[in-house]
Amino acid sequence: MSIFLSAAEKERYKRQIMLFGEKGQKRLKKSTVFMVGAGGLGSSAALYLAGAGIGRIIIADSDKVELSNLNRQVLHSKKRIQKNKALSAKTTLEALNDNIKIEAVTERITGENIDQYARQADLLLDCLDNFETRFLLNSYAVEKKKPLLFGGISGYFGQLALILPKKSFCLACIFEGLPAKGIFPVLGATPGVIGSLQAMEAVKYLAGTGGNLKSELLTWNGLTQEFRKIVIKRDPHCVVCGKEKR
Ligand SMILES: [Zn+2]
Repeated sequence: MSIFLSAAEKERYKRQIMLFGEKGQKRLKKSTVFMVGAGGLGSSAALYLAGAGIGRIIIADSDKVELSNLNRQVLHSKKRIQKNKALSAKTTLEALNDNIKIEAVTERITGENIDQYARQADLLLDCLDNFETRFLLNSYAVEKKKPLLFGGISGYFGQLALILPKKSFCLACIFEGLPAKGIFPVLGATPGVIGSLQAMEAVKYLAGTGGNLKSELLTWNGLTQEFRKIVIKRDPHCVVCGKEKR
């Protein structure tokens, strides 16, 4: 299928076509991303991905919007309290850009249903706040060799990594076990920063422009405004991607 940009699309994306040309824009248009989580990270990532013209965004979240989400989950609004977050996200993203396709997945992502949504994607986005689903997504990415863009936040701190299965470390190489569940503090701007960086990495990766994080974990400290890149090697004994699984 040949990809065509309409006059309206050329106008809408004019400022970024100046960066990576119509060729890059067409690559974005034919791309599919599967985002898990329409919370804080998902909000800023999805807004910029939709704005950039990613052709198809599948966004999954089984939770409902709550009042205490609204300090950071800018896809949603007070009127949408008690509505499903994936459906609320779809409404907001379609209002922003009607040239692209948004699909809302309202069921929880499990080992049984993940393939049905993720197999269609060129890139997986981890915009989660729970490690059970995060590890599921990571194992799926490694098994199917799908690139996975990880974002994680807490309080004033955030992390970002692009996992290229069999080439870079995976999330099980750096996180061991499940952290305690519970409500953790977070300032709204924290997922705003990390979700924007996820969108930045995703657009560069899909448009085939610029560089990407390679075997590096980017960490950001919002209190001191310091970014660090830490080179991480694959753990040969990793239970998910290791050559010599324990
Ligand atoms: Zn691993």
